[in-house]
Amino acid sequence: MSNAAAKYEIKNPLDLLLALEDLAFKAEFEAEGQRRHAAETAEKVTAERVRCRKCDGTGRIQHYRHVANGCCFACDGTGKDGYARG
Ligand SMILES: [Zn+2]
Repeated sequence: MSNAAAKYEIKNPLDLLLALEDLAFKAEFEAEGQRRHAAETAEKVTAERVRCRKCDGTGRIQHYRHVANGCCFACDGTGKDGYARG
Protein backbone atom coordinates (compact mmCIF):
# COMPACT_ATOMS: atom_id res chain seq x y z
CA MET A 1 0.00 0.00 0.00
CA SER A 2 1.37 3.40 -0.87
CA ASN A 3 -1.51 5.71 -0.35
CA ALA A 4 0.68 8.71 0.47
CA ALA A 5 2.69 8.30 -2.70
CA ALA A 6 -0.38 7.70 -4.84
CA LYS A 7 -1.92 10.88 -3.53
CA TYR A 8 0.79 13.04 -5.08
CA GLU A 9 1.35 11.04 -8.20
CA ILE A 10 0.25 12.46 -11.47
CA LYS A 11 -2.55 10.15 -12.40
CA ASN A 12 -1.63 9.95 -16.04
CA PRO A 13 1.80 11.27 -17.00
CA LEU A 14 0.89 10.82 -20.63
CA ASP A 15 -1.82 13.44 -20.28
CA LEU A 16 0.76 15.98 -19.21
CA LEU A 17 3.11 14.91 -21.98
CA LEU A 18 0.40 15.10 -24.60
CA ALA A 19 -0.73 18.47 -23.31
CA LEU A 20 2.81 19.80 -23.57
CA GLU A 21 3.26 18.32 -27.02
CA ASP A 22 -0.02 19.82 -28.09
CA LEU A 23 1.06 23.23 -26.84
CA ALA A 24 4.42 22.94 -28.56
CA PHE A 25 2.76 21.86 -31.78
CA LYS A 26 0.32 24.74 -31.65
CA ALA A 27 3.09 27.24 -30.97
CA GLU A 28 5.17 25.85 -33.84
CA PHE A 29 2.14 25.85 -36.11
CA GLU A 30 1.39 29.47 -35.30
CA ALA A 31 5.02 30.51 -35.70
CA GLU A 32 5.16 28.77 -39.06
CA GLY A 33 1.99 30.53 -40.14
CA GLN A 34 3.40 33.90 -39.12
CA ARG A 35 6.69 33.20 -40.89
CA ARG A 36 4.86 32.24 -44.07
CA HIS A 37 2.60 35.28 -43.85
CA ALA A 38 5.58 37.60 -43.34
CA ALA A 39 7.46 35.99 -46.22
CA GLU A 40 4.46 36.25 -48.52
CA THR A 41 3.91 39.88 -47.60
CA ALA A 42 7.56 40.75 -48.16
CA GLU A 43 7.53 38.88 -51.46
CA LYS A 44 4.43 40.75 -52.57
CA VAL A 45 5.86 44.13 -51.62
CA THR A 46 9.12 43.34 -53.37
CA ALA A 47 7.40 42.08 -56.49
CA GLU A 48 4.95 44.95 -56.64
CA ARG A 49 7.04 48.03 -56.17
CA VAL A 50 10.59 47.68 -54.91
CA ARG A 51 12.65 45.83 -57.45
CA CYS A 52 12.50 45.74 -61.20
CA ARG A 53 12.14 42.10 -62.14
CA LYS A 54 13.61 42.55 -65.58
CA CYS A 55 17.03 43.63 -64.35
CA ASP A 56 16.67 42.34 -60.78
CA GLY A 57 17.04 45.84 -59.40
CA THR A 58 20.41 46.56 -61.00
CA GLY A 59 19.12 48.93 -63.71
CA ARG A 60 21.33 47.15 -66.21
CA ILE A 61 20.92 44.04 -68.29
CA GLN A 62 24.19 42.33 -69.17
CA HIS A 63 22.63 40.65 -72.18
CA TYR A 64 21.82 44.04 -73.74
CA ARG A 65 25.03 45.85 -72.87
CA HIS A 66 25.59 46.52 -76.61
CA VAL A 67 22.33 48.55 -76.67
CA ALA A 68 22.30 51.83 -74.74
CA ASN A 69 25.03 50.43 -72.53
CA GLY A 70 22.66 47.76 -71.21
CA CYS A 71 20.28 50.23 -69.63
CA CYS A 72 17.08 48.48 -68.56
CA PHE A 73 14.16 49.94 -70.48
CA ALA A 74 11.60 48.47 -68.11
CA CYS A 75 12.69 50.74 -65.26
CA ASP A 76 14.76 53.33 -67.18
CA GLY A 77 17.84 52.13 -65.36
CA THR A 78 16.50 52.92 -61.92
CA GLY A 79 16.22 49.30 -60.87
CA LYS A 80 12.85 50.08 -59.31
CA ASP A 81 9.63 48.74 -60.65
CA GLY A 82 6.47 50.83 -60.85
CA TYR A 83 8.04 54.24 -60.31
CA ALA A 84 9.63 55.16 -63.60
CA ARG A 85 6.71 54.05 -65.74
CA GLY A 86 3.97 56.53 -66.39
ZN1 LIG B 1 14.99 47.26 -64.72
